[in-house]
Amino acid sequence: MEIFREIGPLKAFLKDKRDHGSSIGLVPTMGALHQGHVSLIEACKQQNSVTVCSIYVNPSQFNNPDDLLKYPRTLDQDIVLLKKFGCDVVFSPSNDEMYGERSIITFDFGAVGKVMEGEFRPGHFSGVALVVSKFFNIVEPDRAYFGQKDWQQFAIIQKLVDELKFNLTLHRVDTLREHDGLAMSSRNLRLDENQRRSATVLYESLNMAKDALQAGHEIAAVRKQVLEKVEKQGLKLEYFEVADSKNLNLLKSVKDGENRPIMCIAGFVGDVRLIDNMFLD
Ligand code: AMP
Repeated sequence: MEIFREIGPLKAFLKDKRDHGSSIGLVPTMGALHQGHVSLIEACKQQNSVTVCSIYVNPSQFNNPDDLLKYPRTLDQDIVLLKKFGCDVVFSPSNDEMYGERSIITFDFGAVGKVMEGEFRPGHFSGVALVVSKFFNIVEPDRAYFGQKDWQQFAIIQKLVDELKFNLTLHRVDTLREHDGLAMSSRNLRLDENQRRSATVLYESLNMAKDALQAGHEIAAVRKQVLEKVEKQGLKLEYFEVADSKNLNLLKSVKDGENRPIMCIAGFVGDVRLIDNMFLD
């Protein structure tokens, strides 16, 4: 496995691979890797001759400085895991390498970027789009892999690829869960034992909401039930929404959307913010 810290040598390495007919797949991550990330690597390996995993905690997507500071960083372990699962290339750049001088470019995705994560994490998607654009330009992958867990991010990156004509296809990988249903997340490392147990309520709430909505209950009533269930476990609910999965319009009734409806939830366990989602059908 090759490890690069700098853009120039990585580009030269990949150009050589491309010139020899290799296809290149990219899995962008912020490290503290878990099995969810591994499933992206595996999907990438199946479809590409060279799998590149970027590990970079991108400051421009953090609206909360404390969250950035406390974000788990486990590069040595990550490298061992990636080697074990047959990743070909790791790109782990410094902030200087990625940003140099302070960036002045921002992205505005309109309505898609203003709800849910966009509402509660102002500037988050602009930072995500900036760093993902940089990675696409540096790696020039044929395919890039993102997780269902960050559904809104996936929808926004799809817009980015379509609008800016990036010459690649995006692939979505299902959310990998712990045995009790909690979506795997790097931030789970920050939960103590009790918080870890309570955090499962996010997944349980999505299941409960799915049953209730499918039985014809109104979204507003289901939101109230979810709020009660989540708060009973000591979590602070930030939002529970049902959205059109493509344009992310928030729905008042499940019948209102044009595309598959998706339920999205975000909440705090202590000071750790977790998200999850589930399609309704
Ligand atoms: P992160 O390192 O959290 O920024 O995530 C990097 C990529 O892994 C993103 O595309 C995430 O959506 C994806 N990912 C994170 N958690 C999971 C999971 N539990 N299952 C599948 N993919 C995931």
